[in-house]
Amino acid sequence: MQTFKGTKIVNGIAIGKIKIYKAPVYEINEELITDIAAEIDRFEAARVKVQEDQNALYEKEMKEGHKDTAGIFEAHAMMLDDEDSLIDPCKEIMAEGHTAEYAVREGFEAAAEMFRGMEDPYFQARSADVIDLKNAMLDVLFGADTANLQGTEPAILVAEDLAPSETVKLDKSLLLGLVTRQGSSNSHTAILARSMNWPTLIQCHDVADDWDGKFAILDGYNSCIYIEPEQKIIDELSAKQKADREKEAKLQELKGKPSVTKDGQKVRLYANIGGPKDVNAVIENDAEGVGLFRSEFVYLNSKTDPTEDEQFAAYKKVLEGLAPRLVVIRTCDIGADKTIDYMNLDKEENPALGFRAIRICLSRPDFFKRQLRALLRASAYGNLGIMFPMIISKWEVVECKKILEECRKELEAEGVKVGKYEIGIMIETPAAALCADELAEEVDFFSLGTNDLTQYTCAIDRQSANLERFANTHHPALLRLIRETIEAGHRHNTWVGICGELGADPTLSEEFLKWGVDELSVNPKSILPLRERVRNMDLSKYRTPKEEPKPEAKKVEAKKVEAEKPKGLFGRLFG
Ligand code: PEP
Ligand code: MG
Repeated sequence: MQTFKGTKIVNGIAIGKIKIYKAPVYEINEELITDIAAEIDRFEAARVKVQEDQNALYEKEMKEGHKDTAGIFEAHAMMLDDEDSLIDPCKEIMAEGHTAEYAVREGFEAAAEMFRGMEDPYFQARSADVIDLKNAMLDVLFGADTANLQGTEPAILVAEDLAPSETVKLDKSLLLGLVTRQGSSNSHTAILARSMNWPTLIQCHDVADDWDGKFAILDGYNSCIYIEPEQKIIDELSAKQKADREKEAKLQELKGKPSVTKDGQKVRLYANIGGPKDVNAVIENDAEGVGLFRSEFVYLNSKTDPTEDEQFAAYKKVLEGLAPRLVVIRTCDIGADKTIDYMNLDKEENPALGFRAIRICLSRPDFFKRQLRALLRASAYGNLGIMFPMIISKWEVVECKKILEECRKELEAEGVKVGKYEIGIMIETPAAALCADELAEEVDFFSLGTNDLTQYTCAIDRQSANLERFANTHHPALLRLIRETIEAGHRHNTWVGICGELGADPTLSEEFLKWGVDELSVNPKSILPLRERVRNMDLSKYRTPKEEPKPEAKKVEAKKVEAEKPKGLFGRLFG
């Protein structure tokens, strides 16, 4: 038996075989060859194989009713017939004596660059497809088996690191737990792992390829992984896993019970989600609403810039599926660690301090308006909160509201029904926290994004694996900003929630409630444990005898759902 340490992200035990997840990296031979005809034959064979694979994916997606994704594969297969832009340039490169692999890399990258430089956003977005096809061609030419990097059996996945875009694509039903050599506890991948409740270990520096296929136990409680554990450990941790499951079953009894302390103080327990597929988790875990729908996952899950209709469909599904609960949808927070090829963002020295979130949206009004129109259209189907991220100044909020209003008027002129909605902002920069009084005048609610607030207050890059020991999520400066933001919000009758990871930290729940926080938005799996904690609290010890429990800043009334069918083309498509 071998034991290796890491940093735990999620408690819990995973027992099973290891699967090493490795995206291939190819070294391409740049030397010239003599048998040009043979190279062209290899290229053609690869093209046919990739085309067959894309067609098979198209069929599979159609069968499963995913028309949109099917369309992507259909387009890919057709692109491989494009002699002018893709195939002939590669053949010309091979005619000079280069290998098929070299021709694919150079030819496809040149084509991607050409698409990227086009004015029409539709054609710009095609560059991501060309890169996908390049990778698929190289996989075939190198004979790599990438059909399923995750394998086909349930396993503990071990990787160097995983990007958010890779994580969202994982087949959850096959994932027992996750171990990475790199990673940081506040990264979006870690957040996804928490929300899925996968036992997860990061910074396990001893990760090795020869673990592949071995039996292992990931022990989140003790931040370690046992490779080929001895029987005593297997028995002990199997019993612990069983006890966890029983505890989990007991928590189910709290469903439908109010989130209220023994002395009568209420707090709303909401869920953080990434898209329509999480609606069930919200309902199953009895969340009272959604405090953060990270809409950028709608963008990350799409190969191309999602259209207004595609976004509308996603938002409507969530709002309708959860009505009359409040659903706070945060406008697109792309940038920093969440990059998307089709956005064509420049590489930056300090992406976390760079062109991100609302800064992109306010600089690309057409992109922003597409999302706002989709949100407003969806507002007719449930109880919507629209939230703007990465705010530092009042003028940004004013401008967001102005554009939102423009969109509302446009839609109403088109005869499209728009429902009621609340407007809020993320407080995730020290600038916003310190100007909370001024910002509160503009909005209905604040949501404290403690992940970024920690990053920007403590000057700790949330992505950096080297800074874990310096990253103090209970730093007094941070706690002061949180408390003062709650107080500032309440001075202006603006309700205040916490949607960063700290909201689920059980060691701080009592403090947050004592300060009067109105809502905690956490990953769905944390709702019931948090409700249990709240129900066991008694805050009367903090109050003078005459003081009443803290009232909520603003009552959020479940709005009557007006699911009237909209008119026009969109009514026919989605009504
Ligand atoms: C935060 O910063 O705390 C937050 C909730 O937003 P994200 O983690 O998506 O940046
Ligand atoms: Mg944030």
